Amino acid sequence: MIIQGIPVSNGYAIQKVHKWEGPHYNIFSQRVDSVETEIKRFQQAIASAKSDLIDLRNRTLHEIDLEHAKIIDSHLQILEDPETYNLTLEALKANHLCIEKNYLDVTEKFAIQLENVDNEYLKERVADIRDVCTRVLSHLMKTPLSISGEITEEVIVVAHHLPPSIIASLDKRFAKGIVTESGGKTSHSAIMMRSMNIPGVFGVKELYTSVLNNQIMIVDGFLGQIILSPTDDQLDLYTKKRDIWLDSVKITKQSTKKKTQTKDHHHIQLAANILTPEDIKKAQQCGAEGIGLYRTEFLYMKSQLLPTEDEQLEAYKIALQSFPNQKVVIRTLDVGADKEVQSIPFVKELNPFLGYRSTRFLLGEPKLFKTQLRALLRSSVYGQLCILFPMISTIDELKAAKSLLEEAKQELLNENISLNKYEVGMMIEVPAAALMADLFAKEVDFFSIGTNDLIQYTFAADRMNENVSYLYEPCHPAIIRLIRSVVTCAHNENKWVGVCGEIAGDENASIFLLGLGVDELSMSPSRVNHIRERISKSVYENIVSSIPSMMDEETSAKVCKKIKELF
Ligand code: PEP
Ligand code: MG
Repeated sequence: MIIQGIPVSNGYAIQKVHKWEGPHYNIFSQRVDSVETEIKRFQQAIASAKSDLIDLRNRTLHEIDLEHAKIIDSHLQILEDPETYNLTLEALKANHLCIEKNYLDVTEKFAIQLENVDNEYLKERVADIRDVCTRVLSHLMKTPLSISGEITEEVIVVAHHLPPSIIASLDKRFAKGIVTESGGKTSHSAIMMRSMNIPGVFGVKELYTSVLNNQIMIVDGFLGQIILSPTDDQLDLYTKKRDIWLDSVKITKQSTKKKTQTKDHHHIQLAANILTPEDIKKAQQCGAEGIGLYRTEFLYMKSQLLPTEDEQLEAYKIALQSFPNQKVVIRTLDVGADKEVQSIPFVKELNPFLGYRSTRFLLGEPKLFKTQLRALLRSSVYGQLCILFPMISTIDELKAAKSLLEEAKQELLNENISLNKYEVGMMIEVPAAALMADLFAKEVDFFSIGTNDLIQYTFAADRMNENVSYLYEPCHPAIIRLIRSVVTCAHNENKWVGVCGEIAGDENASIFLLGLGVDELSMSPSRVNHIRERISKSVYENIVSSIPSMMDEETSAKVCKKIKELF
């Protein structure tokens, strides 16, 4: 039997079910004789809960990373919130009821207030408040709040709800999957599971009472489905899928251990540019933190026939599943000029680089465009998809592309095809777009600066023409000025910016891009380790302070000299 829930953490698991009831405290309105004794019990319970959380925080920092340790920090803040503490004591002094009842009432009041706010993020924080409250109650009532001791073999944990602090304390050797009846994608529980690579599905209503301990279950965290008592065929199919997924997690883990940061701990995302399926393995092996540019032209180059929606879906799915917890930026077809594809014959033009190509061409071929958009949208269930429109020159072009994407989305929803969240971005490769970046930034989730074309159009120098190649100057102050303005416009709208042109992998240009505040550099996999090394020897503060003087230089050579002096 296949049951649909919410996909919250990618991956596959096939195991026996282990049901976790979770703590249930019956708190009665019991009168107490001594208020002083209650205050003392409360303080001791808070101190014990604090010591649990500090241990958990250190473990999370050690086994996962700082970002996830911050989730536990937020629990420590909730625990030590003076308002909760004071209101609990005030109530105790007024009603002389046990501290458990007063603490529960105060925290529940806050939780219910947040639950009624029309904001998904804040709603998810309700679970954090309840998680902390349960921990304090467990100490007050001297009943241990832990699951780890219960699990001594590989299982799928099934619960009504699994709080983030309990997930962080799970032994990953045994907890192979998690399925709960409640919870959402942006909850801290889901975030923890994703970073621990535990596949999971939330929101499977009334599951708890309908499964039995030790019943075999399959968890498909990509599609948000669970299969109870699977058939032999389903077991065979999912065993294969799980093994492929586990291999890809292993490779990604080996290589992504290394984060890219400067000596003064400024982090920048290093992603890979890919074209062929083989590039995906290379990107994993070099430790790229995601795919910053998937050039989809390859799919259209292989044969004279256009790739079908299903063929494209398969290709995008592989890329997304290969980087389970990282962004995969897939660019819509960028045909024309230097990119000829067998399946689309082009009419010869006088100035192909300035001609009818890329998104301009796709907008004139809505059927072809929509096939790709549908495949992309369908692939959104397999990871963190970012859709990228190339060669956008005007807001109207962008809006037309977005509206076709919306049309494709509505079609799929009408066909009951499940989709997941995705981001929509555009390339900044035309100077007009760079100059209008403040307005474009309101329309997209991110920018990807395509400097190969941006430099060619800014210097009016054909990137394929040897005779004008001296004008291709990645470190020219004109380019630094242009990129700086694009980054500022994006950040003013809280949008992220990547650079996916060749200069991202250039040892000088990567340094000024870092100083300009670019969030992601995407390059050929063969450059990733070199650039990571180079950045690890730099000092972010020094680069940032020398950017204004680089912008005032007259030539690219002088900028390069300044960059060299920083090492
Ligand atoms: C670019 O123009 O910088 C870019 C990344 O796209 P392409 O090289 O594929 O044109
Ligand atoms: Mg380009």
